[in-house]
Amino acid sequence: MKYYSLNKRSPVVDFRQATIQGQAPDKGLYFPESIPAIDPELIREIEGLAKEEIAYQVIKPYVGDTIPDADLRRIVAETVNFEIPLVRVNDFIWSLELFHGPTLAFKDIGARFMSRCLGYFARERKERVVVLVATSGDTGGAVAHGFYDVPGVDVVILYPSGKVSSVQEKQLTTLGRNIHALEVNGSFDDCQQLVKQAFADPSLTSELFLTSANSINVARWLPQQFYYFFAWQQWAEKDNPPVISVPSGNFGNICAGLLAHRSGLPVRHFIAACNANDAVTEYLESGQYQPRKAVPTLSNAMDVGNPSNFVRVLQLFHHEFGELKKVMSSYSISDDETKKTISDVYVKYRYLPDPHGAVGYLALARYLQQWPGGRGIFLETAHPVKFYDVVEPVIGEPVAIPPSVKAILDLPKKSTRIEPEYDTLKKQLRQVFL
Ligand SMILES: *Cc1c(COP(=O)(O)O)cnc(C)c1O
Repeated sequence: MKYYSLNKRSPVVDFRQATIQGQAPDKGLYFPESIPAIDPELIREIEGLAKEEIAYQVIKPYVGDTIPDADLRRIVAETVNFEIPLVRVNDFIWSLELFHGPTLAFKDIGARFMSRCLGYFARERKERVVVLVATSGDTGGAVAHGFYDVPGVDVVILYPSGKVSSVQEKQLTTLGRNIHALEVNGSFDDCQQLVKQAFADPSLTSELFLTSANSINVARWLPQQFYYFFAWQQWAEKDNPPVISVPSGNFGNICAGLLAHRSGLPVRHFIAACNANDAVTEYLESGQYQPRKAVPTLSNAMDVGNPSNFVRVLQLFHHEFGELKKVMSSYSISDDETKKTISDVYVKYRYLPDPHGAVGYLALARYLQQWPGGRGIFLETAHPVKFYDVVEPVIGEPVAIPPSVKAILDLPKKSTRIEPEYDTLKKQLRQVFL
């Protein structure tokens, strides 16, 4: 498989180069030259297959021969080695729980896959890779855990001191080994600025093989198809495919689902469930796409005003508005509706969604009202405990802390404090890695 840049001003590359580079030199997103068709037998016989076999078959055409089969099978097995259950909420709605990984959010799947691919490519080059990321909270944890103990790769995470939650900070700072946390006396923007300066500094990049763990990387995007197949595997009514509602921010997750559907996975319809950041919802109504500044909401991982993966969605439909509308609808859900949904679903069905899942649930329920007989799935993208500050006041009781979180809350934090100055970062990197 070859990948081209959606800006069309860079050479085509293979999976290996696309993964190492992340973004094309012309700043475009990489996109596969063709969409592989899934073997119909995989769809028919899916109930009898192991998760890792399904994942291997889905990803193999995209990886081609850049990773030998034995390594690829190991990588996908490690990527999906936790539960991804489809849980019934009521007669019409099921929740696909994507939060049973180490950092309790669906980003674990993309991060685990990408880290292992990069680890493989680094070993092949016999060069140490340094992944440099700035985080406002969630991404850093998924990346840190994804890369933990992956040979040949070190991770440096910059996070703003005092501006991440205590659980998030522990997820970043308690691993040690190849994970290095830098606690920056500044804001998230300062962290991001420092990372950008490092990538733009030839005197540093000539000494260190630096790369990013950005969410637009194809090695994070493509494995997100896996769990749409796992949903189908657990879906009882094979003659009535599900409507699937995806809480969406940067649109990487739903774009992976649309890709899986294009390859042959049965899905009745997709719902892009958005919060007040509704550029795509508006687009589907008016045909006009107007990116905006993000506004803060309770489902903060979806506070994106100009979703970077939306160009991939458009490309999948060859920029034909009518074709996209046949397959995908979108709803924008307010914070008040989000809170009410968390409470309603908990009281009526004894199921506790997190704020992102609640947006997905309500958007799905709205759509199903118009199409009687339809049944659907919302993706539950995070564990409610990650957003206990929102959820607890709504339901009036504490959210049980899972054992994996309890264990890290007691571990000592290991981080290095730095001032938000590029020279300090550079000195730190050279001291640790050279
Ligand atoms: C990142 C994130 C989202 C949004 O996913 P996209 O792929 O950016 O659309 C939704 N929910 C949670 C909990 C997230 O962390």
